[in-house]
Amino acid sequence: MIGIIGGSGLYRMEALRVLREERLTTPFGEPSDAYILGELEGREVVFLSRHGQGHTILPTEINFRANLWGLKTLGCDRVVSVSAVGSMKDHLRPTDVVLPDQFVDRTRHRPDTFFGRGIAAHVSLAHPVCPELQAAAYRACASAGARVHRGGTYLCMEGPQFSTRAESFLYRSWGVDVIGMTNLQEARLSREAEMCYATLAMVTDYDCWHEEEENVTTAAILEVIAANARLSQEILRETVKALPREHACACATALDAAVVTRLDRVPPETLEALVPILKEYRRRQGL
Ligand SMILES: [Zn+2]
Repeated sequence: MIGIIGGSGLYRMEALRVLREERLTTPFGEPSDAYILGELEGREVVFLSRHGQGHTILPTEINFRANLWGLKTLGCDRVVSVSAVGSMKDHLRPTDVVLPDQFVDRTRHRPDTFFGRGIAAHVSLAHPVCPELQAAAYRACASAGARVHRGGTYLCMEGPQFSTRAESFLYRSWGVDVIGMTNLQEARLSREAEMCYATLAMVTDYDCWHEEEENVTTAAILEVIAANARLSQEILRETVKALPREHACACATALDAAVVTRLDRVPPETLEALVPILKEYRRRQGL
């Protein structure tokens, strides 16, 4: 099963043959919206709108843990996310697609781990994006006729305000490629849940560093977002088509070298909350 998280502008997928909708309550609270289960290009997928139908949820308010817990519980082993980003480099132009493979964290107010409350685990995030899933997304961008850039660093800011100029210049001096408000927590939680993760960063604007371009405003980017939403749906179709059914990556065993705590020391209520997250790990470890 392939999970798809739609961002700004992508609240539902026209090409999806909807089979059913599911509303979940999770040990971490309510997800952003109902999960839409269906079929895309002959593959089973689950779609979730990150900001909810009608875009009512700010990045800071997104319950990332509930969203990813739900996708895992519904049987997803891969997650492709789509989001609107600002470009931090001249050659990354509005309507281009960037496939980031690294992140820098500038968020401040977000729970972003399934662990704690009696269980410690430290997954590796050296390579936060699944290479296999990204390769499929890259091929899909070419098939969909998108101008695509493979690799890059995504700076995840808190928002909801856009950057100040001083911040924008600082981030450029760090060499980051795009700036957004949502993807890093998804990458972290997907890794903890042993799901492959890749993201389509759809460029909408030049943040506020560019001397010749206007500073980003919500009104200006909404038009680009609408065009990007159409393109991203085409890319998602092609990605799903291009994905091999078997995994050749290591994402699905991320917890093997990560869990520190002996499970017989973990409080039962914590284990209960983590049933879908730890299920495969426990089976592999014979616990
Ligand atoms: Zn993977």
